Order: sequence, then C-alpha cells, then structure tokens
Amino acid sequence: MEYVAQFENLKQYLKEKNADNDISILEKAFELADSMHQEQKRKSGEPFIIHPVAVATMLAEMDMDMPSIVAGMLHDVIEDTSVTTDEMREMFGQEITYLVDGVTKLKRIPTSTKEELQAENLRKMFLSMASDIRVIVIKLVDRLHNMRTLQYMNTDSQITKARETLEIYTPLAHRLGMTKIKWELEDLCFKYLEPEYYNSLVAQITQRRDQQEAYIKKVLDAIRGRLDEAKIKAFLDGRPKHFYSIHKKMIAQNKALNQIYDLLAIRVIVDTVQECYTVLGIIHEMYTPMPGRFKDYIAMPKPNMYQSLHTTLIGPDGQPFEAQIRTWEMHKTAEIGIAAHWKYKEKGSSGRGGNEKTSEYDGKLEWVRNLLDNQKEIEDPNEFAQTFKMDLFTDEVFVFTPKGDVKCLPKGSTPIDFAYAIHSAVGNKMVGARVNGEIKPLNHKLRTGDFVEIITSQSQNHGPSRDWLSIVKSSEAKSKIRQWFKKECRDENIERGREVIDRELKKQGYKYEQLIRNEWLEPILKKYRFSSYEDLLNVIGFGEISAQKIINILKEEYIKSISGSKEAELLAKIDSAKNKKEKQKHTSDNGIIVNGQNNCLVRLSRCCNPVPGDSIVGYITRGRGVSVHRTDCPNVVSMSETENRIIDVRWAGKSRSTYIVDISIQAVDNSNLLLQIAKLIAELKLPMKAINARTTRDNYELIDLTIEITDRSELDRLVKKISGLENVLDVSRTVK
Ligand code: MN
Repeated sequence: MEYVAQFENLKQYLKEKNADNDISILEKAFELADSMHQEQKRKSGEPFIIHPVAVATMLAEMDMDMPSIVAGMLHDVIEDTSVTTDEMREMFGQEITYLVDGVTKLKRIPTSTKEELQAENLRKMFLSMASDIRVIVIKLVDRLHNMRTLQYMNTDSQITKARETLEIYTPLAHRLGMTKIKWELEDLCFKYLEPEYYNSLVAQITQRRDQQEAYIKKVLDAIRGRLDEAKIKAFLDGRPKHFYSIHKKMIAQNKALNQIYDLLAIRVIVDTVQECYTVLGIIHEMYTPMPGRFKDYIAMPKPNMYQSLHTTLIGPDGQPFEAQIRTWEMHKTAEIGIAAHWKYKEKGSSGRGGNEKTSEYDGKLEWVRNLLDNQKEIEDPNEFAQTFKMDLFTDEVFVFTPKGDVKCLPKGSTPIDFAYAIHSAVGNKMVGARVNGEIKPLNHKLRTGDFVEIITSQSQNHGPSRDWLSIVKSSEAKSKIRQWFKKECRDENIERGREVIDRELKKQGYKYEQLIRNEWLEPILKKYRFSSYEDLLNVIGFGEISAQKIINILKEEYIKSISGSKEAELLAKIDSAKNKKEKQKHTSDNGIIVNGQNNCLVRLSRCCNPVPGDSIVGYITRGRGVSVHRTDCPNVVSMSETENRIIDVRWAGKSRSTYIVDISIQAVDNSNLLLQIAKLIAELKLPMKAINARTTRDNYELIDLTIEITDRSELDRLVKKISGLENVLDVSRTVK
C-alpha cells in the first residue's frame, strides 16, 4: 500500500522536525479518512486516500500547524462521505472542524467564469467566506494536488480546471505571497491551456539546459569564493525562471527566448539584513549591474510582504542573470507567504496559554489587516492595481444567479437590488424572488452564498413600485427605479411639472408671461442639458428639481430686466415683507408652547406626526429650533439616550391648525376595503391627502393613509371606525 508508506513518511517528517509533536490526532484523522473514503477511487484508479495524505503532507512541508495538517487530511470527508459536522466536532474538536467546514463551503462555490469582473468577485468572496486564512491555504494546496494529477481527466475538464485555477487560485496565491504554489499552479495551467507554447518553450529550455547549468555553476562558484573571503555564511542556489513567467514576458514584450534578460536567476540566502546589503555590494563589484534593474524590496516590501534585493547583472560572456538576495526569514515569506507569517504570529501569542483563543484569533486577522494596510501605502501599479481589502468585505455580500454568475452587492441588499444588478429590464419586470429555492419577500436581506432567482411578470405594463425606493440598498437599483418613473410617467410628470410651476408662480405673485420667457429658459436648459422645456417639466414633475429653484432663477432675470424701475423697488419690498410673514408663521402656527418661551422656532417632527392630545416632548436641534415628537416615538427615545437636549413642550389649548397623520392598515385581502375606507373618511369630513394600497405576496392588504385632522379625538374616532371594518387586522399610526 503506497499511501500507507506515504503516511509513515509524513509522521516521520513531523517527528524529525519536532520531537514534541503529538501526532496521535493526525493518526486518528488518517484512520477516519482511510475508512470513510474506502470505496472512492481517484480518476487515476488509485485509492482516493492518496489525495488527502498528499494534501496533509504538503501542508506539513509548508510548516503549517497541526490543526491545518489534520484538516488537510479530513478536508474531503464531510463533502464526500456520510460523516457530519457534528460527528467531526465530537471527534476532533471545534478548531479542526471549523477548518474542514470552511474548505467544504468553498467547494460549493461555482467557480467556472468567463468575465474578469466575475473572477475578482469570486476571489473576494473566497476571502470573505474564509475568515480564517488557513482555510484558503488548505484550499490552495488541495487545488495544487488536483492540478498535479490533472493528466487523468479528459481534455474538457482539464481546460475548465486550468482556467478556473488561473482566474481564481493563482491570483489568490499571489496576493497571499504564496509564490511557490503560485508558480507551480501557473506552470501547470500553462501546460494545459497553451500546450503548443508550453511544449516548445520546455523544449527550447531543455536544449540549453546543460549549457545553462554550467553557466550558473560558474557564477555561483565565483560568488561563493568572494563570500568566503568576506567570511559571510550564505546559501547559494541557481535556477531557470518558471515557464509561465517567461512565456508572459515573451508575449508582453514581444520577444524571443534569447532576448529575455533574466532567464537565469541566482539566489543568495544569508542570516541578517546587514549581510544582504554586503552581498549586494560584493556582487555589484564582481559584475556590472544593469541600470534601472535594482530593486530594494527590503526597504520597500511588496504588498504581499515579499522582501528581497533584486538586481540584474551582466555575467561572464555578456549573458545577463538576475540575483535575489534575502535572509532566511524573508525566504520563508517568499515561498509560503501569509502562511509563514500567520505561523509566526501564532507562536508569538500562544505563549500566554490556550485560554486566549479569541484574542489569538483576532491577532491573526489583525495581521491580515496590517498586510492590507501596507498594500494601500505602497504604490506598485503594475502589480497590485487592485488592492485587496478583506476587512472591508464585510460591507458586501456575494450572491449567485441561477447560472452561477456571482454578483457583488452592498450589505443589506434585497432581491430587488439583485434584479437590477442583473439588468434594469429584469428589475422593472420583477414580481417576486426565490432565494435558495424558496420564495422570499422582496425586502428579504440577501446573504453571501445565496442563490437568487428572479420571477418576472409577462405583462407589458408591469413596472416597479415607488415603495421599492425605500427598500433597496444599492444606489444602482435606486437610480434605475427613478429612471423608470422618469421615463414611463413622462406625460404625467410633465403635467404635474406644469402644475407646480403654476402654483409656484401664483405663490410668488408673478404671471406666466412675466417669467417664462425663452431667452431666460434657454440658459437653464443648457445648464441642465435638457433639449426642451418639456424635459425640464418632466424632472420638475418627477421631483428631481424643485419648481421654486427654477422660478427663483427666472425671477432674478426678470428683476434684472426691470432694474432701476419703480416696479423693481416695489418687488424688493414685497419680498422682504413676505419673508417676515413666513418667519412669524413658523413660530405660532403649530399650537405648541415651549417650556415658558414664546418666540421659539417649533417644528412638528415628520417621523411621528404628533397631533393635539398626543403626549409630546421637544428636542432641541442644532440651528433648527425645537422639533416636537410623540413621547412614544422610537427616534426620540434614541435621541434622549445620547444627549440631554430634551425640553418640555405642551399643546396650547384649542388650536385652529390642522395636522397631518399617517396611518397604516393591515387587512386580509378584501376587494371592497379601499372603497369602505374612503366612504368612512368622507363621512367624517376629514381631508384625505394620500392613500396607497398594496397586496403582499401572502395576500395581505397593506394600506397607507395620510389625512389631515385638527386633534387627537378626531383621530381616535377614525382609528376606531376603521378597526371595526370587516377583515381589518390592525390599524396603527406610522412612525418613520
Ligand atoms: Mn480535495
């Protein structure tokens, strides 16, 4: 049994590395995986268990911790066998189960993509779903082993897997600084995606191999001699660059293989940073450095924490080579990236004992955050055009279309946001949504990983509802809904626009002909990029621009045109008198007395619309006087908690003012209900300002009603009457 021998090797390796390693839990994991995967075979015909053993071994070689290695051994158990998460937790504890579960969840993300944007969203999604970076490391190692054994798959799957790897996994490995994995994955993808290029490149390089190896040996010997003289203990190594990076360079620079400078690279690994610079000096003395090719990634680490000195030199016979100089610690970071640092971090904090699990965990995330912060500071547009901000992903959710495309939406988004993210035509026609196969209300909050399917109406006349504007979260959906109303209700909007312009003219005391003149309208239309007066009326009627604003501009033009005349003086006087009157109106009209003070600016808050008879409190706003709320208004409760700006207010006896109230009525579907309510209100002689009815998916009727009343008793009477109607379930005052 080959895999048993491999497992023995792994145990041996761990023992040799650290005699204190307790490998009993790993043995337990091996036994479970071995027996549970018993029936499964790899595509190669080998027993399946060779895969988890290989993954665990690779993780051990990367110096990952024991829970990661054990999780690597178990990573396919939940997905492929009958073992449940609970059973695993029972046997292996919370931490290992958490890691296995994380890897299992990532497996369920469909990753075959076509577009670049999709790939970026998927990568972000991976990082947001795997809150423990070890999950990503295990996943990458899993993928690497699968890629190494890809030859057993058919050509189609080979191409799909390779493309997926290149789009999702290698960029992840790169960002996490896991260079070794990244290179190997890239070369494997290259081999399956571009077999002709790959084979020809490998052939060319192999042909020159002997010659190159001799060359590298010559350079290394020379350098080693000088370092010995300088008494520097160093590890030297030389290698050709990996295939995919050579290929990319040839394509990008349109060059043949022999025109690529740094085909060969040597590496010098020393103990201290000081020695790095000393070695650099020595090498620069030995060979001529190529101008502009020196890079100090020690002083300026790459965003993924990579550190090294890079320089390209003209070697013997004029053949250039690249030298990389780094310490052992930097070397480890360069090879396994974030995994190395994560480990380092853990060692630093585990000394305090096992009882500080959470802070240790936070420490790990903290480190990732630092990594990301570094990334923001360092400008390296070629390599990290896109910063990767894991801690910011909490503001986003990633959800799937039925085809498996991923959409990125702001947190709190609803199926409506999703529908508009697909296409405005889908949003405008939507009537419902299925989330993970179940019908959900339109205001349902989507979560990362949800599959969402939008149900659309066949009817030509179907359009969005204005209520949606307060439900949706994304600005994209909001603006698309607005767009629809602007376009579809153009005639209505224009008519309404005309009305509000007329009303505003009347209010300000002007005649239509006085202000609405082409020569004054023209600049306004130009400024807002409208092609006609009707376009302007459309947006006024729609509410995007206020009529007052437009009239004020026109008014200024008018006053300019008559400047100096008697009429102009008169107008100025009227205006100032009007302003005075307006101000007086505000203080007296509400029928509110503020704690002894008379001349105080008072506003009835629009969130709870208090009416005489309601118990009320005042809240001192900054610069806008006192706003009056009902004492049971939730907004005022939260305000009073924060600051002591509550002031006593009371109703000033009998008042002639009218008050606006919003009422919401919930009822069982009843086609007659609207009519009955309207009749009732007419009987009570209450002016109705607005009424809005809609039926919910589960066939409830929701009616929002805005009416004008003079005091609380009138309201109470109305509420009582509506509550008495058949099928009405609930009547309440609305608080916004
Ligand atoms: Mn696997």
